[in-house]
Amino acid sequence: MTRRSRTTTIAAGPMSRLCPDDWDLERFVAAHAGINRSRRQVCLVLLPPGVLIAWWWSTPAVWIAVGLCLVLAVVNDLIARYRSVVIAGILIAGSFELALSAVVTATGGIHSPLLAWLILPVMMLAARYRRVVLLVAMSSGALAGAVACLLADLLGTAKAYPSPLLGLTTTALGVATGLIAMNLQSADIASRQDATTDELTGALNRKALTPLFDRMSKEADARESHLSMLLCDLDHFKSINDRYGHAVGDDVLCHAATVIRQAIRAEDRMFRIGGEEFLILLPHADAPLAAGIGERIRATLAASPADGIPVTVSIGSVTSPGRLRTEERELQELADQALYQAKSSGRNRVVAATPPWTADATAASHPARL
Ligand code: GH3
Ligand code: MG
Ligand code: MG
Repeated sequence: MTRRSRTTTIAAGPMSRLCPDDWDLERFVAAHAGINRSRRQVCLVLLPPGVLIAWWWSTPAVWIAVGLCLVLAVVNDLIARYRSVVIAGILIAGSFELALSAVVTATGGIHSPLLAWLILPVMMLAARYRRVVLLVAMSSGALAGAVACLLADLLGTAKAYPSPLLGLTTTALGVATGLIAMNLQSADIASRQDATTDELTGALNRKALTPLFDRMSKEADARESHLSMLLCDLDHFKSINDRYGHAVGDDVLCHAATVIRQAIRAEDRMFRIGGEEFLILLPHADAPLAAGIGERIRATLAASPADGIPVTVSIGSVTSPGRLRTEERELQELADQALYQAKSSGRNRVVAATPPWTADATAASHPARL
């Protein structure tokens, strides 16, 4: 299932006002994946201190309340299946907060070692929802905690807990919050990678090009080193599609991407910027090095047919001395002109552009005699 269709399913939910635009939904989906992954891990971490406290109290009320918390944490997926995920998240966090408040009431209110656990549902909401939901969650969490403490005072449930039990519940809370943060971070990284990766070939997509170009260009400027660009376009690719079909064409594209990936250096970055066009950024690579890497790509691809289908590539290369801080568009236009020359002079070759600054440099190194 693609990201877009997943987003649309959630948008169709009746509470889509909570995630009013596509960006919000994307963010929600990513964070929700992180929270879902955390939920079971957090349950496992909280289970030992929860059960120990219930056993230490040995009253049915505490057992029931602890059990309720655990059940609520586990059945989230079931509720989410029948309702919008956006609503389910709020329902679960709200019920969890209530059940937890019951446990806090039963285990001593302000003296309960579980009081601080009330932070967990708020944290889980904060990761996914807009400020308004969070404000409601924080106020209702504080209210639930206060009511639990008052009720505990009225019922006289306070007890002196053994220190190991206090230590264990605090440690469990620390581990649980750490797990939530870790899962949210991984979900965020995965969603960023998803957004900038071409699904078919695994190359970076056009969206990733400008920020990476800017970073490399600034670095080249600071270090006074070169930044090179290769523009690769598969030759006669349309005829491969026409002859073998689109699916085989896709396989050939993946094969070409793999060959390119293996031919470039670890610091180089490959982007799929069109159907059968790949752009490669080569930091700290001068013109001869860029042409050499281009030639390695060309020769390797020509020598390794994709499942018996011969495939070749034409490449345009261009190099900018870092201090010029060349614009991405200007560099790409020059690489495109070189690629055009490679195509018109017979394909399956690498052509280096002759940018205007090369002529300036030549003039500077051979000053006219007076
Ligand atoms: P040239 O040597 O001049 O580059 O010729 P070409 O046939 O490669 O160039 P052209 O731009 O005419 O054709 C590119 C083809 O790439 C056309 C399009 O059907 C195909 N294509 C674009 N994206 C994809 C894709 O994702 N998968 C497949 N299988 N084909 C694609
Ligand atoms: Mg093309
Ligand atoms: Mg082509």
